[in-house]
Amino acid sequence: MEAVYIHIPFCMKKCNYCDFYSLPVNTVGVLKEEYCAAVKKEIEMYAREFDKSNQVKSIYFGGGTPTVLPVGELTGILKRLYASFPVANDAEITVECNPGTVDLDYFRRLKDAGVNRISIGAQASQDSLLEKMGRIHRWRDTVRTISQARQAGLENINFDLIYGLPGQTIDQWKESLRDTLSLEVPHIAAYGLKLEPDTPWGRALELGKLEVPDQDISADMLEAAIDLLLGADYLHYEISNFAYSGFPSRHNIVYWKNHDYLGVGAAAASHTGHIRRTNVPSLTEYIGALKQGHFPVGEEEFLDQETEMAETIFLGLRLLSGIDRDEFRARFGVNLIDKYSVQVEKLCWKGLLELTPTRIRLSRKGLFLGNEVFLEFLP
Ligand code: SF4
Repeated sequence: MEAVYIHIPFCMKKCNYCDFYSLPVNTVGVLKEEYCAAVKKEIEMYAREFDKSNQVKSIYFGGGTPTVLPVGELTGILKRLYASFPVANDAEITVECNPGTVDLDYFRRLKDAGVNRISIGAQASQDSLLEKMGRIHRWRDTVRTISQARQAGLENINFDLIYGLPGQTIDQWKESLRDTLSLEVPHIAAYGLKLEPDTPWGRALELGKLEVPDQDISADMLEAAIDLLLGADYLHYEISNFAYSGFPSRHNIVYWKNHDYLGVGAAAASHTGHIRRTNVPSLTEYIGALKQGHFPVGEEEFLDQETEMAETIFLGLRLLSGIDRDEFRARFGVNLIDKYSVQVEKLCWKGLLELTPTRIRLSRKGLFLGNEVFLEFLP
C-alpha cells in the first residue's frame, strides 16, 4: 500500500460552498471519540487483509478539519498506523488544518508524533471574502498559524487558495497570491471554485441569487496564478498545484498516477488492486459497522482494464509532465498512442495535447481546457 488517507469528518462549522462529508463538531457529542476508536479498528482490520511487503510512503489526515480533534486523538490514530503497517522512515505525513483550530503546542505534538507536512486552508487573504465563504478564520489567523507551524519545526507547508469566488475580482485574487508569496510557503494549491447543488451557495446559484465569475475570468485567474508563481520560482507541476523544487505533494501524486491507496474513515475512498471502495458517508453507520466487526463499505466497484486505462490517462494528464508512455505500456500491455489514436490525433490537432518521444501531456492551451481533453478519454 503506497498511501493511506484518513478522513476526519468534523469542522467547527460548515462553509457555504463545501460538499465534503463533515459535520459541525459541536453537534456530534461522544460520537467524536467513538469515531476515532472506529478508525483505529478499521486500520487494524485492513492491516490483516493486505500484503505488507510494500512500505507506506504517505499518510494524509484530511477532512473536514482534522485539527478540531484533540491532538492526542490524531497522534493515537497515527500510532495505530505505525503499529499496523510498515511505514517508510521518510514517509510524508500530512495533516490538514484550519487557522483558528491550532496553536504552537498542538503543532509541537504533531511534530513529535512524526507529522512532517501541514496543509493550511488559507483560501484568500481578504477578510471580507473569508467572511462571505463562512470561514471561521481571518487572514491574520493564517499568518499566525504559519508562524507557529514553523516555530514547531514544520517547514513543509501547503496553502490552499480558491479563485472564482462570488464577488472576487482578479485584483483581489492577485493580492491573495502576493500575500501568500510574501510568506514563502513551499507548496501552493490554487483551486477554481466548483459549486455542487447540495450546498448553500450551490442552491443560491440555482435560484439566481448568487453570481460567480464567468469561465473567461476564471481562466484569467488561473493564468495570473501561473505567471505570478512561475515568476517566484515555483514549479507548476499539476494543473492547480505549484511547489518549490523538492516539495511537490507525494500523497497527491499517488492519486494522479492512479496508484493504490487506502482510504480510512466515513466517506473515504480506496483504490486497491482493481477495486474501488467508498465507505458509508454516515458517522453512525460507520461506527456501527466497525463495532460489529464489518468493513464499513458503502459502494464497491470492480475496475476493468478499459476503465483503469481511461482513469490513468485523465488523472495523469493533470500532471504537467504528463504520462510516461513506456510506464503505461508496462502497466497495461497496451501502446497508449495506438489504442487512443483517434482522440490523440484530434486533441493534438486542436493544440490541446503534446507528444514527445517518451510522454504525452497537456499543452499550455490544454491546461485551460482540461475537461474537454479528459472527456475524450472516458470509456
Ligand atoms: S473547513 Fe473545509 S471541510 Fe470544513 S466545512 Fe469548510 S471547506 Fe468544508
